[in-house]
Amino acid sequence: MQCPKCKDVTLIDEELVENLSAKSCPQCKGRWIQSFQYWKWLDAHGDILTEKPLDCKADLQSADSPAGKLCPECGCFLRHSPVGHDVDFCLDRCNNCGGIWFDQNEWEILVSRNLHDETHFIFSAAWQKRIREDETKMTHKQRIEKIVGTEDYNKLTEVAAWITQNEHKNTILSYLQQK
Ligand SMILES: [Zn+2]
Ligand SMILES: [Zn+2]
Repeated sequence: MQCPKCKDVTLIDEELVENLSAKSCPQCKGRWIQSFQYWKWLDAHGDILTEKPLDCKADLQSADSPAGKLCPECGCFLRHSPVGHDVDFCLDRCNNCGGIWFDQNEWEILVSRNLHDETHFIFSAAWQKRIREDETKMTHKQRIEKIVGTEDYNKLTEVAAWITQNEHKNTILSYLQQK
């Protein structure tokens, strides 16, 4: 099996974690996890681990490579999908055989956030929809912050949180609307 990134380099077997073997590239350090290996490991792995916050992220740089790679197993195009959840790279998966490509350090970064056992969800329509919704929400927030300034924006989020949790939320909101 050849590396989908380096093309002329042969992938070698690597025991990634207990029960999970991958095919690794000695040149670019990327890894290919075959679908059956992933599911076998996930079966033995038990419950999905709770996602860890951004400050738990391993201090590693991903070597994210652009889209357009071919599956080393079956030759089909790999689908390039963003991970989201404050992870700034994409993963590549073959729609045909289900194998997944991780560029250097991407597996380690996902492990540090406990997202590695949710890799199969990343390519689902629901996961990708949530990423787009989060992005829309974020740009909306950034727009407001730009208009009112950071100090007032922070005050605004404090007040908004206070209103949301308040038992007289509707009364407060109608008061504000009449102002
Ligand atoms: Zn390679
Ligand atoms: Zn494939």
